[in-house]
Amino acid sequence: MVPVRTAGNVGAAAERAPMTTHDRDPEPDRTSLPGHRSAGAPPTSAWQRVVCVVLGMGAGHVAALRSRLAACLALRRCDGSLREARRWARTHRVPWDPLEAGLRTLGARCDCEALEVVERE
Ligand SMILES: [Zn+2]
Repeated sequence: MVPVRTAGNVGAAAERAPMTTHDRDPEPDRTSLPGHRSAGAPPTSAWQRVVCVVLGMGAGHVAALRSRLAACLALRRCDGSLREARRWARTHRVPWDPLEAGLRTLGARCDCEALEVVERE
């Protein structure tokens, strides 16, 4: 009787170690360390910067839209449309189509949701 040796590699295959790299701390790029803050920029939060970029407006316009929506929604309930936001855009000569698209991108489908988006810190 000749012994059949077939199980020689089974154990080695089961010993495969998962190649984890999550405990390796990536060295931060020293050239991108904070320190080039522009002194003239107003202190806006990261979210407010996102809002400005997505809506295609400056922080001043976003603040103006915020106070307009807050004032309107204090007087009457949201009617489920972006009516006041559209009216504000017309008053300030802000192109409505990209603004509306930006608001919808941020999850706002009506005036009260738009206010929620622009007043978030
Ligand atoms: Zn609403």
